[in-house]
Amino acid sequence: MSSKLIFEKDKKVTSSYIPSPSIKIKEAKELIPQEFLRQQLDIPSLGEAEVVRHYLNLAKLNFSVDTNFYPLGSCTMKYNPKVNEELANLEGFVYLHPYQNLKDFQGALELVYSLEQFLCKITGMQRFSLQLASGAHAELAGMLMIKKYHQVHKNNKFKVIIPDSAHGTNPATATMCGYQTITVRSNAQGLVDMDDLNKVLDGEVAAMVLTNPNTLGLFEEDILEIGELVHKRGGLLYYDGANFNPLLGISTPTLMGFDVMHLNLHKTFSTPHGSGGPGAAGIGVNERLVDFLPVPLVEKGKKGFLLNYKVKNSIGRLRTFYGNFLVLVRAYAYILRLGREGLYRVAINSTVNANYLKESLKKYYPVAIDRPCMHEVVFSCQKYKEKGIGATEIAKRLIDYGIHPPTIHFPLIVKEALMVEPTETESKETLDYFIQVMLEIDKEINSEPSKVKNAPWNSYVKRIDEVKAGRQPDLCWRPS
Ligand SMILES: *Cc1c(COP(=O)(O)O)cnc(C)c1O
Repeated sequence: MSSKLIFEKDKKVTSSYIPSPSIKIKEAKELIPQEFLRQQLDIPSLGEAEVVRHYLNLAKLNFSVDTNFYPLGSCTMKYNPKVNEELANLEGFVYLHPYQNLKDFQGALELVYSLEQFLCKITGMQRFSLQLASGAHAELAGMLMIKKYHQVHKNNKFKVIIPDSAHGTNPATATMCGYQTITVRSNAQGLVDMDDLNKVLDGEVAAMVLTNPNTLGLFEEDILEIGELVHKRGGLLYYDGANFNPLLGISTPTLMGFDVMHLNLHKTFSTPHGSGGPGAAGIGVNERLVDFLPVPLVEKGKKGFLLNYKVKNSIGRLRTFYGNFLVLVRAYAYILRLGREGLYRVAINSTVNANYLKESLKKYYPVAIDRPCMHEVVFSCQKYKEKGIGATEIAKRLIDYGIHPPTIHFPLIVKEALMVEPTETESKETLDYFIQVMLEIDKEINSEPSKVKNAPWNSYVKRIDEVKAGRQPDLCWRPS
């Protein structure tokens, strides 16, 4: 297909035939006062059919979880049931305006309130704010609350401990809040090294941030002891619950000793992603931090639901109105539909699927830490390095087979990491196809390495200079 922009396709005249509207332009000109008449717009002149084809063909270049298997580690690209879309598109939701009177959107407030109750039940936390637009945004809220908590309690603390396997947003958030980040090492089992933790833990530590299961997909078995140690020094324990899939209905962060956590609705609760845009995340807290939540909070008053702006030590507002409300509708629909039993099945299936891939592929692609994993598994492609092939090349070759590349080079502690999260929504047939393709690629590396080295062959965009694309992105179109 042509890579021309619609501006470049502009023929200045259009020869296609579309029946003209019943109101003639000339009449309109007579009806509308001169000063309100629209000027001739400088937009391409193309027939309707050409415009439709242009955009549909562009849309076909999209790679999506609706079209292909998308086993992206850590970022949970699970299938989003279409019934969620249907419910989020109900007129009563779509045509709400945030400046309407409170009594006009009681139903919307009830939905947010009920969703908060569900999330509290699921995680054990006391309250949630759902106004955040992404995981990173919720982390910012959480870290700001931790900071204010220590300020109010006059604790002089300026360090945040983060494992070396952590998601990049963890140290970034701590740094943005003015904290010094201290890295704690992982041990040979891929878990927090307790000796190292004891070394770095002192009274200056404001918080420790942990993901459990961690980014290797492994459950931190010493979590109770970690919590005790951090709390003994007056620190708080932050849970990165971006991907809570494998623990739904199995355990709760409060049981594990966490004080504050975020949940990515766009990962765990099957709503569309969209960094800082149409995503949504919740920040949950136990009783220690309830007074610090962002405002407004949705509450149930005597005369109905209301927005409470009076939260004693609130960090303030972090999002306009009440966040990405229609994303909350989708997550609410998802939870209602699954119920307790369904959520539990999510946890079991996401774990079974990842272990199935691990066991089927580990003979060919060594597992970073070969222990039973939870919802994701990290392979290492280091052994192919001598043939000039690493995680990048294997990920690119997967595109030729219609599979989205898994996360690569993360977590940073694994050389040539290939991080795979199949999610619970995929069938065994899809997993078997992935396994078959991975074995095929292994064969190719041994027989015809150039096939893998120079992949992808079938995609619209081939290999790009990734460093240059990252450092000097050219995002502007200029007329030639
Ligand atoms: C995705 C993710 C985040 C950040 O969430 P965004 O919505 O992408 O900002 C944080 N931590 C972990 C472990 C994640 O997987």
